[in-house]
Amino acid sequence: MNDNQRPQIPEKIKRSVRQRCGFGCVVCGLPIYDYDHIYGFNEEIGHIADEITLLCPQHHREKTVGLLTTEQVLKKNNDPINRRRGFSSPYRLNFEGHKPEVMLGTCKCYPPEGSLSSHFIIPIVINDVPVIMFKFVENQLLFDLQLRNAVDEPLLLIRDNVVQYASHQWDIKFVGQRLTIREKLTPISLSILFKMPNRVVIERAEFYVNGINFRVTKDSLQFPARRIMFSYIEIEGNVMYTIGEYTLPFQAAFNIELPEQ
Ligand SMILES: [Zn+2]
Repeated sequence: MNDNQRPQIPEKIKRSVRQRCGFGCVVCGLPIYDYDHIYGFNEEIGHIADEITLLCPQHHREKTVGLLTTEQVLKKNNDPINRRRGFSSPYRLNFEGHKPEVMLGTCKCYPPEGSLSSHFIIPIVINDVPVIMFKFVENQLLFDLQLRNAVDEPLLLIRDNVVQYASHQWDIKFVGQRLTIREKLTPISLSILFKMPNRVVIERAEFYVNGINFRVTKDSLQFPARRIMFSYIEIEGNVMYTIGEYTLPFQAAFNIELPEQ
């Protein structure tokens, strides 16, 4: 039976494998991986969660050609690197070029034409912290994002195009261009699309920075503390929204004041 005829692994089994393996290759922790049947797929038995592991393309290949033995994989599967250290191995995104663009739900932000500042955008700044940012350093387009939960623990950090996430989460999926984080079955904490070479689409998100939050839904951008909601806005500028303190040298399209404590 070849891979095309094999029944697909049910999502529930995939999730339990991801959780057990710490959302990355059990050998090296890379967030790009395949589901590997440790003893090979057995048509009569079908898919058994405990006998499936995560391997990155390199380690999957090595296992296939015998440069990594089943026993070695079993050992790593019993003590996945991401679970042991609490975070995934770094994965570098291939952003490049000029004119970056960020979509937050239905709100779009892209840099103004023809100035030195036309290579970068900071859609959201909370208390002077750029939460999402495209910057241009030494001819390289670099993307930054930090996603933390309500108690300020990092869930996902992207710094200079390098993605790393905390591995003690309920579910993280990185399939194709889409990275999804869930705290429970619903709702989605983050759904982000990396559109090479220079676009990011945040489809859903709940961000917290120093206890302040904003939310991206499929048709709005919300700032719950201010009971503010935006939809279908296009901003040609370097900074889209700022909340709280703001000292960066760019004019923001919107400044959102916080309510008095
Ligand atoms: Zn690997």
